[in-house]
Amino acid sequence: MVKNDSKVSRRSVVASISSGVIGLIIGGILGSQAFPREIKTTETKTETTTIVKSTTLTQVSTVTTTVPVEPTFLTPPPPIPEEQITQTLEYDLVIVGAGTSGLAAAVAAAEEGVSVVLIEREATFSARGGDNTALNSKIHKRLGIYIDPEEVIKKLMEISGYRADERIIRLWAYNSGKVMDWLIDMCEKEGVKAWLIIPDRTDKYTFVIDKWPPSQAPPGWDYRKQTYIEYPTCHRFGDTPTANQGLLLSILEKRALSLGVDIRYETKAVRLERPDNGRVKAVIAQTKDGKYVRFKARRSIILSTGDYGGNRAMVEYFLPEEFAKLPDLRNIFGMPTPTGDGHLMAYWIGAQIEPRPHCAMVHAWHGMGTAPFLMINKYGKRFANEDLISNVLAFPIQCMRIGGIWVLFDSNWPKYTYNLGPGFFRIWKADEVTLKEFQQKIENGQIIEANTIEELAEKMKKVTPELDIEVFKKTVERYNELCKKGVDEDFGKRSDYLFPVDTKPFYANWNPPQAAFLVTMGGLIVNENLQPVDKDGKIIPGLYVTGNLVGRRFGLDYPLVCPGLSHSMAWTTGYIAGKNAAKEKLVVT
Ligand SMILES: Cc1cc2nc3c(=O)[nH]c(=O)nc-3n(C[C@H](O)[C@H](O)[C@H](O)COP(=O)(O)OP(=O)(O)OC[C@H]3O[C@@H](n4cnc5c(N)ncnc54)[C@H](O)[C@@H]3O)c2cc1C
Repeated sequence: MVKNDSKVSRRSVVASISSGVIGLIIGGILGSQAFPREIKTTETKTETTTIVKSTTLTQVSTVTTTVPVEPTFLTPPPPIPEEQITQTLEYDLVIVGAGTSGLAAAVAAAEEGVSVVLIEREATFSARGGDNTALNSKIHKRLGIYIDPEEVIKKLMEISGYRADERIIRLWAYNSGKVMDWLIDMCEKEGVKAWLIIPDRTDKYTFVIDKWPPSQAPPGWDYRKQTYIEYPTCHRFGDTPTANQGLLLSILEKRALSLGVDIRYETKAVRLERPDNGRVKAVIAQTKDGKYVRFKARRSIILSTGDYGGNRAMVEYFLPEEFAKLPDLRNIFGMPTPTGDGHLMAYWIGAQIEPRPHCAMVHAWHGMGTAPFLMINKYGKRFANEDLISNVLAFPIQCMRIGGIWVLFDSNWPKYTYNLGPGFFRIWKADEVTLKEFQQKIENGQIIEANTIEELAEKMKKVTPELDIEVFKKTVERYNELCKKGVDEDFGKRSDYLFPVDTKPFYANWNPPQAAFLVTMGGLIVNENLQPVDKDGKIIPGLYVTGNLVGRRFGLDYPLVCPGLSHSMAWTTGYIAGKNAAKEKLVVT
């Protein structure tokens, strides 16, 4: 049995985000002007010099565009001088980055009998969380569960606002089950069990799907009826269904070593070599003692270097403004964070980074806000269908946009939560963990308690002075009226989630705008074989990319329709790139 102590789970980490986390209030005002006929183009040449060009055209709007200075990180650095390269080594495949996708690529390729070196800048592989999605794995088949890939592809394309490259989404959807089976087989050989689960916000109440529909769910619960659908596709590995990606990766590392993969830790790739804009031939890497080594590839190079969350300049340039102001969770918790090395090395030799703004995985733990209770802004007004925003992903985004959210509920809340059914991060029953948290929040003032709505309003105003008490009272009155009617005429919330606020004591939970991002998700433009292309759409020969380096997978938000999608995409693209690269023709280096 392989053992591993890595227990950094997304749940435990996010649950402990403190008030030190930065938030941002976005007040977006879009104005439109009819009939002015001038287009102004503002070119910012440096931070202090601005040149304004004016052009008169027969168009009906005024547009002011700012062309930012090209950031310095995009300029290729000089090559490493030949005399500083102390050693040259040759392999069929050179893989950079021993995270989820790099280890998958290494094992998948080595199984084809090719020689592989896997270089990693840290002292060990990177493992986080533990949720791994897959469509129609062998566990699904055993339980008689079928998830229609076409339905999921359609959903992911819609959620991305059609920014995703459907070829990549299809590649994932139709291969994730096969790749999951490959992982399950590998783990079972090591005595490690695979679980199909519905993730809960605490590992304690994670829902193990041992029969379908799950017997612990409230009567009539059906995941298909959720406003934000979450498919039952999440797999975990271990003695118990606790998030433990480290265990899974240690099995891959062991398998890679047994297949003869040369794993070199504390070796950081710094340049790709692509003579005369032809085939990418080698990776130059720096070892712990500062020496440079040239790793030549007889067949291909795979970049699996992850994201760029640790590179603030890239974060600020590529992420949407409200995400870029957030901290990277890994920095807060002292975990190693990739710095976009793969993105940049590939860009410098002609690959294209997908257009801005990029997606980021943004999470925040918003306590009672994960249940679809009445929610209002700081002025006292309802602003959205609370079921939609109660998703862990949408909540922080909405919260940042409107500058904080009040969540309102009454003494019947334990009864209401029970009807919700399980969901990612969702409070869905008044379990002992939730009740304890609730009590703690009352004690430390994060949840305000009162016996009348007036008293509650007075207390809330002390926290958010902008609250208009009369407006607030009308909001609660109107909401209770809609609950009685059973129809949400204002925001269309499903009727079984219309929980009135009419039984004392009443509660209000203030959620300031705070969140963090876990990884950035923008990558390189690739073809359907995971080969990056240049600005003319031509393949860059001798190069593949995987995981978070694969561009055009998402819109702006990382979707949770299949919890653990990011790992699943890393496994699947790693496996496919490994197999593809191993089949590349041998070339004389
Ligand atoms: C706390 C946390 C919890 C998470 N939980 C989940 C979850 O449960 N489910 C899920 O789907 N996703 C989760 N994620 C996201 C997920 O971990 C990543 O999206 C995924 O691991 C990406 O895989 P990857 O192979 O692209 O990159 P990584 O796994 O990040 O691997 C990249 C590797 O490349 C190495 N590297 C970088 N640059 C170089 C260089 N120049 N030379 C050599 N090596 C280099 C890095 O050190 C790293 O080891 C979580 C993220 C965090 C931060």
